[in-house]
Amino acid sequence: MNETPRKNLSKELLESYRVKPGQPVQLGTVDPTATGPFERKKRARAELELLRDELVELQECFYAWDKRSLLIVLQAMDTGGKDGAIEHVMKGTNPQGVEVTSFKVPTAEELSHDYLWRVHKATPARRMIGIFNRSHYEDVLVVRVHSLVPEEVWSQRYEQIREFEELLAANGTVILKFYLHISKDEQARRLQARLDDPNKRWKFAKGDLKERALWDDYMAAYADALNRTSTEDAPWYVVPANHKWYRNLVIMSILVDTLKSLNPTYPDPEEGLDDVVIE
Ligand code: AMP
Ligand code: MG
Repeated sequence: MNETPRKNLSKELLESYRVKPGQPVQLGTVDPTATGPFERKKRARAELELLRDELVELQECFYAWDKRSLLIVLQAMDTGGKDGAIEHVMKGTNPQGVEVTSFKVPTAEELSHDYLWRVHKATPARRMIGIFNRSHYEDVLVVRVHSLVPEEVWSQRYEQIREFEELLAANGTVILKFYLHISKDEQARRLQARLDDPNKRWKFAKGDLKERALWDDYMAAYADALNRTSTEDAPWYVVPANHKWYRNLVIMSILVDTLKSLNPTYPDPEEGLDDVVIE
């Protein structure tokens, strides 16, 4: 695979977004409006196109290679850009190798099992890129904020989640977790845009306003989740997400670097193909 020199989004910058075990992140100190070395979207366009070409090529090879699976976890406050990130980051990749799972309020059947039951079933098979739009982290976020289970239950889940992800990683799943970090002001703008645009209104849920009122509780729950479950094998990244194009750029860069580091190769063809004549 050709190494495309990346001039702008350095590894050091991307690394600065990773939550390092033992170095707790404070979300209040991470700027959601950051755009790295780019002043505006126009300046990043060439970089975005390069990354897209790389990602498309890498995904094709990863699928053919058939040795590992890749799990991408997306978490964010309402309007944080989970849907948009899936749409724009994965544009151009082969849908056959990508599987998106959106986790909603658990059904009665799901609730009658342990909280990881529905999640484990949805993890990507070998060769697949699985994307979780919300995830098992809801079980230490919305569940904690609304006390849907007692504290002695949710407080045990951080360790359970670490162990669950360790199991996945030990069995060949590469895990990347992205928290899309928007400001409360930006959420207000995006909620208003949903109200104003007839084509976006379907996304507006009155309940989102109740969650918005609990913003600080959510930030505390997010901080704990990120700090307690970011591991070497399943790292969290805090992605500045007020600017959608920068959010996409950061996720794509990390995705490309991760896929490259796995060094996927096309399988060897059957022997003797040189002599094959198609009549
Ligand atoms: P949306 O992503 O906008 O379609 O909304 C899905 C809703 O499902 C959000 O309000 C989530 O908080 C909620 N949800 C997802 N997982 C859980 C869970 N484990 N327990 C309770 N609510 C959840
Ligand atoms: Mg919603």
